[in-house]
Amino acid sequence: MFFNAFQMKIVFATHNKNKLKEVAALLPAIELISLEDIECFEDIPETGTTLHGNAQIKADYITKKYGYNCFADDTGLEVSALNGTPGVYSARYAGMECNTQKNMEKLLNELKDKINRSAQFKTVICLNFSGQQLFFEGVCKGQILNIQTGEQGFGYDPIFQPDGFDKSFAEMSMNEKSSISHRGRAIEKLITFLNKD
Ligand code: IMP
Repeated sequence: MFFNAFQMKIVFATHNKNKLKEVAALLPAIELISLEDIECFEDIPETGTTLHGNAQIKADYITKKYGYNCFADDTGLEVSALNGTPGVYSARYAGMECNTQKNMEKLLNELKDKINRSAQFKTVICLNFSGQQLFFEGVCKGQILNIQTGEQGFGYDPIFQPDGFDKSFAEMSMNEKSSISHRGRAIEKLITFLNKD
């Protein structure tokens, strides 16, 4: 199977501009189309109870309603001392308003007496491409810091330090983060598939 990446147009089903920027930088040969480009302004329901389920719901929503090849991702932060939570509920951890600052504060509070600070980000990508549906996974292991550090990135970046580094995701450039991140690793697998022959 060989797809000409230079002619490829794929919708990335996200309203998150930071994520779109991160992913677009990793896919220079593909024309990445945003939800705004296809005039999809509605919030796509994320009613799944797993990362796979949510990624699939989002990708299927766009392919069925708008007819495009599409991929969608869903990411969760899985904290060992909290039995893998917040996981699929990471965005809404401190409530439906999806407030990043409150989410981080809640997590730091839950972990204040815990010695085990291990955690991992996991990304699942669902790709709908020419009638096929495929899933790609990426994981980044690390530790939850005691305080917020750094200004870059988004979400839980200021309190997540990936293994092998002495700085948080929020202290890394976008390229440095993507080279080791959960999303970067899942995207690598997506690229390998799209370039497969
Ligand atoms: P989503 O499924 O990518 O929207 O991710 C769900 C939630 O996980 C987001 O609202 C963020 O709080 C968090 N999250 C996802 N990706 C990252 C990341 O790369 N860094 C930090 N937090 C993230």
